[in-house]
Amino acid sequence: MNTVPLLIERLGALIQQSVREDAARHGLLPIHVQMLQYLAQANRYSDLPIAIAEYLGISRGTVSQSLAVLASRGLLTKQPDARHRKRLHLRLTAAGDAVLQTSWAEQVGQALQALPGDGRVQQAALRNLLRALQRVNGQRAFGVCRHCAHFCHDESGARCGLTQEPLAQEQITRICREWSEPAAA
Ligand code: SF4
Repeated sequence: MNTVPLLIERLGALIQQSVREDAARHGLLPIHVQMLQYLAQANRYSDLPIAIAEYLGISRGTVSQSLAVLASRGLLTKQPDARHRKRLHLRLTAAGDAVLQTSWAEQVGQALQALPGDGRVQQAALRNLLRALQRVNGQRAFGVCRHCAHFCHDESGARCGLTQEPLAQEQITRICREWSEPAAA
């Protein structure tokens, strides 16, 4: 019997419980903590309300209501895009960052670090499983920029091959809604 589905279900239940506890500690709902967690990892093409809805599989209405709560609590700011003024980039404030300290994700990171090889083999296996399930479900992959098929790097620095815009160093380790899987070697 393959016990992987059961293990994943247990992990999912444990994480959901931890998210509920993280949220309760800060007087927030679990969805608020999940949105902060997403925005802490999202690059500049993905720190948008529509990307949150896609990533978490929730309605734009729920995103909009939750953003209003998070903004009123001073946990994020909305910054107009330099070129598309109607587009708002969502950025965590220091208070928003503080909510994520000692969160479930930190605990998972520490548990992975304690595994052989810093858990890199397990991370690769989980990433492949996630991609396979996302393909089955027709969802965007939201992969890390530097592992994207469009990622370019030369002597002038990093650049997105899709938009042809330069990428700052801190952006290339973030996740992107436009991410594409590189062709198999
Ligand atoms: S290279 Fe890929 S992941 Fe990075 S910004 Fe461009 S589309 Fe997004």
